[in-house]
Amino acid sequence: MEKGVLIILSGFSGAGKDTVIKKLMSKYDNYALSISATTRAPRVGETEGVSYFYKTVEEFEQMIKEDKLYEYAQFVGNYYGTPKDYVNEQLELGKDVILEIELQGARIVKEKNPEVVTIFVTPPDAKSLKERLIGRGTEDMATINARLRRATEEAQYMDEYDYLLINDDLDICVEELHTLIKSQHFSVNRNIKKINHIREGVKAFSEGE
Ligand code: 5GP
Repeated sequence: MEKGVLIILSGFSGAGKDTVIKKLMSKYDNYALSISATTRAPRVGETEGVSYFYKTVEEFEQMIKEDKLYEYAQFVGNYYGTPKDYVNEQLELGKDVILEIELQGARIVKEKNPEVVTIFVTPPDAKSLKERLIGRGTEDMATINARLRRATEEAQYMDEYDYLLINDDLDICVEELHTLIKSQHFSVNRNIKKINHIREGVKAFSEGE
């Protein structure tokens, strides 16, 4: 079976990543979403084991000690990390695995696995970013401002990513993301075995002439 593609989806807080991923996963069944561990408190509507695995700082630091995380980072005062086992398991099953993580984590994964495809999602402009952050009503003003400051920092490094996705129209954004991921299956790097097989076939054919 062909191994799945590992994808990192990053983007400013309030860029609509969650909504894009939810819609993508409800439409297509070739995806697996890694559920992260975090020390941040659950927001209204979030569920343990679905949105995140919620941990205390002590529990999270224990996971680090026991080498249970593929990567981890701190973001606006909280730890976030990707549990190790699930990612490899799903890739082996042929699923395209999405990690919805921020820049520091993206850098760690890229170093460990250069084949990862990194995508940065952004709203069309900064104004809609602030509106979305305030509009969802899940954070107080101090947290919103801290997240906007973090977005300013992250904006400097957007060009480290392989692809940029503008989330203006949700349906279009989801289709573009799906097409982008699908196209990765055709990359030469992922198809070396097939290339060698065809090469040998062509060689045998021409020698037999
Ligand atoms: P939020 O608190 O809004 O759910 O997430 C805050 C930031 O943490 C987002 O940029 C999100 O992509 C990132 N994040 C979520 N899970 C992980 C993770 O496992 N590792 C890293 N490095 N970042 C994560």
